[in-house]
Amino acid sequence: MSTFVEEVMAWVKAKNPAEPEFHQAVEEVVESLDIVLERNPEYRKARIVERIIEPERVIMFRVPWLDDNGDVQVNRGFRIEMNSAIGPYKGGLRFHPTVNLGILKFLAYEQVFKNSLTTLPMGGGKGGSDFDPKGKSDNEVMKFCQSFMSELFRHIGPNTDVPAGDIGVGGREIGFLFGQYKKLRNEFTGVLTGKGLNWGGSLIRPEATGYGAVYFAAEMLGTRGETLEGKVCLVSGSGNVAQFTTEKINELGGKVVTLSDSSGYIYDEAGIDSEKLAFVMDLKNVRRGRIKEYADKYNVPFTPIEPKADYNPLWDHKADCAFPSATQNEINANDAQNLLKNGVYVVSEGANMPTVPEGVNLFVDKGILYGPGKAANAGGVATSGLEMSQNSLRYSWSREEVDQKLHGIMKAIHKSCVDAAEEYGCPGNYVNGSNIAGFIKVAEAMMDQGTV
Ligand code: NDP
Repeated sequence: MSTFVEEVMAWVKAKNPAEPEFHQAVEEVVESLDIVLERNPEYRKARIVERIIEPERVIMFRVPWLDDNGDVQVNRGFRIEMNSAIGPYKGGLRFHPTVNLGILKFLAYEQVFKNSLTTLPMGGGKGGSDFDPKGKSDNEVMKFCQSFMSELFRHIGPNTDVPAGDIGVGGREIGFLFGQYKKLRNEFTGVLTGKGLNWGGSLIRPEATGYGAVYFAAEMLGTRGETLEGKVCLVSGSGNVAQFTTEKINELGGKVVTLSDSSGYIYDEAGIDSEKLAFVMDLKNVRRGRIKEYADKYNVPFTPIEPKADYNPLWDHKADCAFPSATQNEINANDAQNLLKNGVYVVSEGANMPTVPEGVNLFVDKGILYGPGKAANAGGVATSGLEMSQNSLRYSWSREEVDQKLHGIMKAIHKSCVDAAEEYGCPGNYVNGSNIAGFIKVAEAMMDQGTV
């Protein structure tokens, strides 16, 4: 670790105590930037690194709501407006009991670089609540969303801050949030993305993060003259990202053998084909059930999560590719070792920061095709950007048009990672490539805009 990285990390830890995920995300980026700062001393003088780490604004608020028994529940809401140098704040809302300030700051920080990589004019933000939609009725989810938006609405807007979905926030929640925003503001604007198709949403937005992660993997494989055809793939999660990752892998001729949720994972050696995937989509998006039902229906093994285990058996199967698509730090150092041992040589991260730093180092040192989340999963926010463009134009592009643009953006992101890694002396290193390419665009904009 260089002196500069040490100094920055000491400062970050002192200023943001008890936020380990935020420290982890910052350290990974700053470690990539040494050489950039050496070549551009003006960034050091302007303290660009320190300014990007400090959110422009943090909003934290009470979210009271009445449950179906008429009892009062109290949750905490957040919105982190991290950086607006290249466009309005943009990033998802996460509803999950593990949500806290540090996790949302890590996500908002990652979002700044990710959005910069998409080539679209979007700043970085993230928000959410410790509310758990699991086990709640539609009515309770609506009450919560309305209360959440009753505070958030005054801080967001189509030219200020445009939230979207993330864990626990899908089409249903975006609908309730949008309805309340519209009522309070008395205007119909593109203030959220991931909207329903008949009220301003974009085709392909639900598919975009998963499709994008697979396009990114295909681009990485392309550098070795290979394709996804015939590749055995491990996918974690069974939500939005995991579902459409599976769909696209199938379309490109690969085979997905695992899916999971927070209770455990299923292993289906025959592959999760389109019919089985339709069952998963109905199970998760309509019936809101547990992945174990898949094992019961198709007679395949289900392994429950063992909270005390020091590895996750999902990552311990023979495969070629891994698409972590559940949550942060879901691949620890033992899991990374198991993946390598089992022949995995492509890791494309649908989730945000799913691999711990030791795991990332193992992948990079081994020289496998490792696409970090901020590049590999940028297709979601990129398509949110396309939804914003369509809203501004008051026009809708066809499925093919949006998919083609998404594919083009993923190719462009891949190219800028490869080019930046090459230019800064670490060819093939997508971690440094994505951090450097994402950082430079934001840094240049901040330099142009003065000390604000
Ligand atoms: P969903 O809520 O649709 O699905 C999340 C999935 O991950 C569920 O299967 C969930 O299981 C599982 N999961 C969540 N938290 C945990 C946990 N702590 N331990 C084990 N499993 C867990 O979310 P998304 O698919 O939208 O998001 C998945 C990941 O992708 C997240 O890291 C998110 O930040 C990232 N991402 C999402 C984007 C999007 O467009 N949606 C864009 C870019 C990144 P269970 O239901 O049992 O909790």
